[in-house]
Formats: sequence, structure tokens, C-alpha cells
Amino acid sequence: MSRALIIGAGGVAGVVVHKCCQNSDVFTEICIASRTKSRCDALADQLRGKTKTVITTAQVDAMDFDALCALIRSYNPDLVMNIALPYQDLAIMDACLECGVNYMDTANYEPEDTDDPEWRAVYEKRCKEEGFSAYFDYSWQWAYMDKFKEKGLTALLGSGFDPGVTQVFCAYAKKHQFDTIDTIDILDCNGGDHGYPFATNFNPEINLREVSAPGSYWENGHWVEIPAMSIKREYNFKDVGQKDMYLLHHEEIESLAKNIPGVSRIRFFMTFGQSYLTHMKCLEDVGMLSTTPIMFEGKEIVPIQFLKALLPDPATLGPRTVGKTNIGCIFTGKKDGKDKTYYVYNVCDHQECYREVGSQAISYTTGVPAMIGASMLLTGKWNKPGVYTAEEFDPDPFMEELNKWGLPWQEDFNPVLVD
Ligand code: NDP
Repeated sequence: MSRALIIGAGGVAGVVVHKCCQNSDVFTEICIASRTKSRCDALADQLRGKTKTVITTAQVDAMDFDALCALIRSYNPDLVMNIALPYQDLAIMDACLECGVNYMDTANYEPEDTDDPEWRAVYEKRCKEEGFSAYFDYSWQWAYMDKFKEKGLTALLGSGFDPGVTQVFCAYAKKHQFDTIDTIDILDCNGGDHGYPFATNFNPEINLREVSAPGSYWENGHWVEIPAMSIKREYNFKDVGQKDMYLLHHEEIESLAKNIPGVSRIRFFMTFGQSYLTHMKCLEDVGMLSTTPIMFEGKEIVPIQFLKALLPDPATLGPRTVGKTNIGCIFTGKKDGKDKTYYVYNVCDHQECYREVGSQAISYTTGVPAMIGASMLLTGKWNKPGVYTAEEFDPDPFMEELNKWGLPWQEDFNPVLVD
């Protein structure tokens, strides 16, 4: 018997809601809330009558502390699931602390306004000290560790696929496959085709900020930063085929570097087609990816937000996306004194996801682990007061649930390595 408040009603939240309703023994009641109540109602209408889960909806701006606390107090959930945007992470964590409720999300904090001088001062110090310049990092949320501990509350950060499942794969490899892990390569391949010349598979603003930033990887105890898209490899992905992939900075590298002792290198690669890269470069060159407001005909607009309004809504890509994703981790290390390599990954089919929950595979591969992470907290399997990422918990129950809820994993004990 448990009750979850889900904040957000976009592409990923759509999958989360479907999956919570399939898992109605754990999610007996859910409330879907966002600023646009009609989208929450539309989601609820898709599920009502098809599930035992009792669904309600509410209107809330998560940045409005009093309004969010009032909603949490009146609904009285066991967990708040932040399936909105990374901009809201700290505001929702504050409200959870105030109201004494557990918290989870799918992406680490980044500010909406990157020109905010207070944030910039901290950011610039971090760039210098840590050596990577992405707008997002874990420091803001890790700073809540003691506050969550004192209140006996758990915060699970980044329970999507990457971050999320990729860290569970790392914890699983560490627990069952290796005595020591030397290198980790996380490979995220989307072999899907939505038929548009250019569209993003999740929130365009967050996606374009991430992929246009400099790349970086962890090596021998420090960050190595490189110009965006300047390290390219080819890889032959099972069930997808040969793809170009590029080294990106990605948030789980930061926590894995801390939590996998002795690891000498962690890299993250994502596949991109030439059309996507050409469009992105052009948009960047003309200033459309900028987060700095400009005046346009007497009105202030943020270029990347204007671009978002022009691009297809990722939540509408489901019916037209065909092909598969393949996301996983390749490890090298030692077991029983011998060198060992190991690859664990999931293959997911866009059209199968669409038939099951009405979404493409990127929302699906994020929404399923968000539901599983929430169920780990609600069933007490992952309760540990404080603020943690997925690799800091026992991977076994999560790995079992992946097989049960639509993201079965496969293993390769002799994978081709990335040079
Ligand atoms: P969408 O843009 O489709 O949806 C975002 C939702 O958040 C909307 O329903 C929006 O509704 C709501 N929202 C935004 N601001 C607020 C606010 N102030 N108060 C309340 N609700 C708000 O995004 P996606 O579904 O594509 O992505 C959701 C999250 O998943 C993002 O954080 C993204 O980074 C993450 N993600 C994680 C991945 C992973 O593997 N870990 C992969 C892909 C995505 P409204 O505007 O009406 O309020």
C-alpha cells in the first residue's frame, strides 16, 4: 500500500504513469501534477478503468515552494517522483525535506538561468577545481546529504537509464563479475528513426544543452575535457548494427568515479547520425542554442526555448519512430587474478514500446527504471537515509525488476572493446 506523487506529465512521465499502473500492488495510489493540469488529466484518462491504481491529478508549479508543500501535505505521499526537469530538482528536494517525504529523480540539477551570478560564481569555481564545464553536476544535490540523513529520508538521484540503469550495471559488475574494475565504457546507441530531419528524443532544451557541451572523461583520478564531438568511434551494436558514436560528458561518470574504487578510466559514448550533427552545429553557429535571453520585437526571449517551441514534442514521436536502442556498459578488470572483459546491455524496440505504452524507446528506457527505482524505495529494498545514486544500493533486486518490467538485459563475456 503506497502513494506516490509524480511531478511532470511529459514524455517520460507518460511511461512512468503506465508502468506504475501496471505495478498496482506497489503503486496503489498516484497523483500526477504539473503546471498544465490538462496534460495530467489526459494521462490519467488513458489509464482509468485499466488499472487498480487510484489516479488523481493536480496543478502545481514545483518552483513555488508553498504551493508544492501544500500539495504534498494534502496528498500525503510516501514518495515524490520528480519526472519534471532538472531545473526543479532542488526546489522539490527542499519541499520533500520540509514535508518529511522521500525523493527521487531522473537527472541531476542544472539551473534554468545559466547567467544567474550566484550560480555562475559556484560554477566557475567548480570548472576550475574539477576540470569539467558541463552546466550540471552532483555537488548541488550531494550538499543535501546531511539534511536527508537527519530527517531519516532517502533521496535517489538519477533513476533513468543513463544515468540510472548504467550505474546499476556497474554495481552488478562490481558485485558479481569482478574483484577489481579497471575501465568502464558506457555506450548509448539509438538506432531509431523518427522520419524528421531534426528532433530530440527527450526535452529538447536539456538534450541540446547536454550534447553541445564539451566532452569529458575520467582518467587516472582526474577529468580530461575535449571539444564537443571531437572523439569519434565506430561500434557494431547487437540488433542495431554499425554506428558512429561520440564521447560526451555524462553525469554518472562523476558518481561512478567516486563509488567504483580503483577505476582508472570511465568514458561515455552516444551515437548520432550525420543529419542530427549538421543541424545541431548550424543551430549552434547561429546562436539558437544560447540560454542567454535576447530582446526580440520588445519582448525578451531565450533562443533555446524558442527553438524548443519549433521542434517536435518528444512525447509525439512514438507512432513514427522505428528501430531499436542498445544501451549498456563494457568493463575490463580482474577476477580471480585473471584479466576479464564483460558487457551488459539492454536492447529495446521503439515500436514495441509504442504498442505497450504509446511512447518511443527513449521515454520508455527512462520511465521504466524511474518506476523501478521508486518501487525500490517504496518496498524498503533501497531505503538508506541520505542522498545517493543507483550504484550505491544492492543491484540485484533492481536487475530482477528490469527483466520483469520490459527492459531485459543481456551479457557478453567476450565483447569487442572500444579503443
Ligand atoms: P518533457 O519536457 O516532455 O516533460 C517535462 C514535464 O515537466 C512537463 O510535463 C512539464 O509540464 C513539467 N514541468 C516543467 N516545469 C515544471 C514546474 N515548474 N512545475 C511542475 N512541472 C513542471 O521532458 P521529458 O519527459 O522528456 O524528460 C523528463 C526528465 O527525464 C528530464 O529531467 C530529463 O532530463 C530526464 N531524462 C532522463 C534520462 C535518463 O536516462 N536518466 C533520459 C531522458 C530524459 P508543465 O510545463 O505543464 O509544467
